[in-house]
Amino acid sequence: MLLQVLGTAAGGGIPQWNCACPGCSGARAHCVRRRRHASLAVRADEGRWYLVNATPDIGDQIEAHPALHPGPGPRQTPIAGVVLTDAELDHTLGIWRLREAEGLELLTTAPVRRALEDRLHLGEVLAPYTTLTWWELEPRGAQPLRADAAGPSASGVRISAVPVSDKRPRYAADDPAHDAWVVALRLYDSATGRSALYAPAVATWSDALHSAAAEADCVIVDGTFWDDEEPRRTGISARTATGMGHLPVDGPDGTAGILATLSARCLYTHLNNTNPLVDPAAPQHKQLARLGIEVADDGMVIEL
Ligand SMILES: [Zn+2]
Repeated sequence: MLLQVLGTAAGGGIPQWNCACPGCSGARAHCVRRRRHASLAVRADEGRWYLVNATPDIGDQIEAHPALHPGPGPRQTPIAGVVLTDAELDHTLGIWRLREAEGLELLTTAPVRRALEDRLHLGEVLAPYTTLTWWELEPRGAQPLRADAAGPSASGVRISAVPVSDKRPRYAADDPAHDAWVVALRLYDSATGRSALYAPAVATWSDALHSAAAEADCVIVDGTFWDDEEPRRTGISARTATGMGHLPVDGPDGTAGILATLSARCLYTHLNNTNPLVDPAAPQHKQLARLGIEVADDGMVIEL
């Protein structure tokens, strides 16, 4: 299985256009500190890829990764579709930018599809431009990562969703509660037996999530905030990290202590611009390294 890390930042990216915090200012001064919105590309078959989340940076993310470039036909793209972990704007706005596609597969849970269709009118807006094929990403079952709209392909990569949170996007705050508003994705390569878990937003570390993490060879997890007080201390929110739906990295409720017990290769992604980890010189990097945990970087290739 081949994964390409297209981006590693939380909402707003780093730098965020209207933010002069130390993290964003540092990224303006030093290009290497820039991080695009968190996203992943997974290869389902030779020359066929799915994007995990479609961010506002999607155009630049595709251009930065030659495997995702079109060709040899003039409008032939290796991108078959998009898998969504949730309905947040930072993970979905890029779908509209793919309107030039001849067709696009969308794999989402039921509440996420409903939000995109009923609140954001995705299907209605894109219908004159392209053909969307929706597949329901069913929690708990494992389904082939489809390589064409005709149904299951020879692809060895299977996907399943692990519900992690009932947190709705703000634009859908009064939609019905559902445990699959936010999911982690388990990607399993039946050819090699290797698997990855991608969980860019984790509100609680459930038993189901732990089982999936314990079975995986590679775990890529929510690293939005370093500690629980960070959003309040930096003035970006009146809520704690946990209150915002993101378990912090460090501290008693932090995920670093859990990741350190796993045998998988563990990496953090989805870093907010307030997270000290956005500075490569921050001592927090050494703290994670001592636990054997990495921080994912844009452009990283993970082969399993
Ligand atoms: Zn900032």
